[in-house]
Amino acid sequence: MSNKLAVVAVGGNSLITDKKNPDVPHQWDAVRETCRHLADMVEDGWTLVVTHGNGPQVGYILRRSELAAHEVHPTPLDLIVANTQGSIGYMLQQALRNELNSRNIDRPVVAVVTQVLVDLDDSGFKNPDKPIGSFMEEEEARQFEADGWQVVEDAGRGWRRVVASPKPLEVIEQDAIQTLTDAGDIVIAVGGGGIPVVQNRKGELRELSGVYAVIDKDRASALLAQEIGADLLLISTAVEKVALNYGKPDQVWLDRITVAEAKQYLAEGTHFAPGSMAPKIEAVVSFLENGGKQALITDPANIAHALRGETGTFITP
Ligand code: ADP
Ligand code: MG
Repeated sequence: MSNKLAVVAVGGNSLITDKKNPDVPHQWDAVRETCRHLADMVEDGWTLVVTHGNGPQVGYILRRSELAAHEVHPTPLDLIVANTQGSIGYMLQQALRNELNSRNIDRPVVAVVTQVLVDLDDSGFKNPDKPIGSFMEEEEARQFEADGWQVVEDAGRGWRRVVASPKPLEVIEQDAIQTLTDAGDIVIAVGGGGIPVVQNRKGELRELSGVYAVIDKDRASALLAQEIGADLLLISTAVEKVALNYGKPDQVWLDRITVAEAKQYLAEGTHFAPGSMAPKIEAVVSFLENGGKQALITDPANIAHALRGETGTFITP
């Protein structure tokens, strides 16, 4: 297949469009809507690896696990990430297949449960700072602390668990993903940033035991895009373009920037919020500094417009 290859990172939040109605029927609506835009890309000749976040979904599963704790054993975080790769992967796989079939496009679509290697010496393990799950009272938080979680008071809004966010080093299923894309199949992979695993001295992969961690999905997507030589890293999120001075009166929307400009804006520290846009820009910079040719950040509804050069923020070397 001589198709162009794109890694498209779909935000976990963008699959929960209405926070008050996060139920499964509404999730299906959001997934189907996103898949219409992904199918447009396939129709335009792209082979896709679709990656996705899972932040809100992990929170729901954790909450269910907590409420049922008196009756059923708890589910560890690596299994929760795997669960969301299965559930979100299944939804995307079915919705995209149906959308392609409705356009008479016959392309296999398959979700791959993906492990991502991390290093236990990663500095991210020393300062867990990524909040997950729901807010709680201090007393409850202390109980989780006794169970081995780390907890923080989050800006006066209540207590939350925090987990480490180590750097992704290697996508374990990369070869399988590449075999599939070489054949022209549409692949869904590195859901939720991938399941973090470590390697022991014998070279065996193992879950992280006693350490809670999740990998940033934008960083993992950039690594995968780099390793499989994707022509494009497309980050599909809730904004049409990236802005300077985001949310301030002097906000400026960006159409096209270079890596050098992106790094300068990152260094200025005021433009891209930490935990949301900053990690996306960092991921894009890493992709472009490691052989990537082009990255695009826009929202699902504008993917086709943006690929025609009409909107979105393009970042180039
Ligand atoms: P995702 O679930 O796709 O990872 P995030 O909420 O983590 O989405 O990040 C995207 C959000 O970042 C945007 O919806 C926007 O609210 C916010 N944001 C922060 N800084 C900027 C910026 N400089 N330009 C545009 N959006 C920004
Ligand atoms: Mg995010």
